[in-house]
Amino acid sequence: MTDDFTARAAAWLAEHAPREPVTDLAEARRFQAALHDAGFAGITWPAEYGGQGLTETEQHAFDELAQQYQLPGKPFLIGLGMVGPTLLDLGTAEQKRRFLRPMLRGEEIWCQLFSEPGAGSDVAGLTTRARRDGDGWVLDGQKVWTSRAEYAEWGAVLARTDPGVPKHRGITMFVIDMRSPGVQVRPLRDMTGAIRFSEVFFDGVRLPADAVVGTAGGGWDAALRMLGHERITISDRRVPRDHPASHAALAALARARGIAGDRRVRRRLAEVYRAERLTELLAARLAQEARAGRPIGPRGSAGKLAAGRLARLSADAVPDIAGHDALAWDPGDAAGARLAAAVLDAPSARIAGGTDEIQRQIIGDRVLGLPREPSPDRDVPFSEPRA
Ligand SMILES: Cc1cc2nc3c(=O)[nH]c(=O)nc-3n(C[C@H](O)[C@H](O)[C@H](O)COP(=O)(O)OP(=O)(O)OC[C@H]3O[C@@H](n4cnc5c(N)ncnc54)[C@H](O)[C@@H]3O)c2cc1C
Repeated sequence: MTDDFTARAAAWLAEHAPREPVTDLAEARRFQAALHDAGFAGITWPAEYGGQGLTETEQHAFDELAQQYQLPGKPFLIGLGMVGPTLLDLGTAEQKRRFLRPMLRGEEIWCQLFSEPGAGSDVAGLTTRARRDGDGWVLDGQKVWTSRAEYAEWGAVLARTDPGVPKHRGITMFVIDMRSPGVQVRPLRDMTGAIRFSEVFFDGVRLPADAVVGTAGGGWDAALRMLGHERITISDRRVPRDHPASHAALAALARARGIAGDRRVRRRLAEVYRAERLTELLAARLAQEARAGRPIGPRGSAGKLAAGRLARLSADAVPDIAGHDALAWDPGDAAGARLAAAVLDAPSARIAGGTDEIQRQIIGDRVLGLPREPSPDRDVPFSEPRA
């Protein structure tokens, strides 16, 4: 059975999968729909919601094969890696029927609206409000750093629905149509020069009763589940072979510059190789356990930390290997520009999805059993003044 699947996947990928990065969103969507038609999207998701109803073994076989290609999965990452698994955990049958298939086909792209200007690490301190209005709700407030909001059709948003109870208990998660009246998206440019996240403003946005994910007031549980899926997704992103700061790319660059035998360069390359392999193996194991239904809990923070550490090690190796080219490149030198962008992008891996400090805190509190950080506002109603 798995042999059949693997042979079919290998043949399909050889014929259809891109070997160069896909930068056009419409093309990425077409590929995702074709992937679904061919039976390779949502491999472990239930067949009744558009998945393939197969097992971790097939998923692993597919991931191994896909390594040789440049599958344009990034635009769909939040939907397929985070929102979809959360809806599978907590969504109603109607929500799963409505949202999962278009998500798998790339017809509806999703974003995650958690962080706010005053609530990032302490996301439970969020102040975006949803108040009841008849059967539904009305949403007001602001989010920031919302990846893919520039083009996402749908979002998962956290809002405060009861300020009269302690902060973790008065939050609700909703699905929101990003094209609703009252949603305004303002793109932000990061230091690589790209636009990859936005500020999002809500002004009297109406949400229907069936937009609630899980239960009203149960948003913190929904958020923790999604953050758990996020950590696995982030750490499970294998380093693409053509990533400019991957071990393979850096080793090729060192050979091209004639410095591959240099002792310092060899040590750098060995460090990157070791971190890359360890991160991949740890992430693969966590992802397999999660897909097999075994809770990975705070161990996901170890995977996320490892991915951030790998990004730092690879970026630190670049100046030793690329020399001045890491800082300045000729106009028109696309490879130089990509290398510099990869170095500038590296610190974001230690912030996005929860900072290194927060992952260490989770490991300290929940794995090592160290004394918890004082949290004086934990048990007081959110509406009471907190110093
Ligand atoms: C590339 C990128 C993409 C992102 N995409 C999204 C997205 O799609 N959706 C979304 O909702 N958010 C997104 N984020 C936001 C991200 O989740 C937050 O930036 C992150 O959680 C940190 O929050 P903050 O920026 O408010 O920093 P703060 O929480 O203000 O932290 C500032 C510094 O203080 C440290 N710190 C804070 N609290 C503690 C503590 N208790 N103990 C020790 N140190 C502490 C932090 O580690 C950090 O170094 C993205 C961020 C980046 C960089």
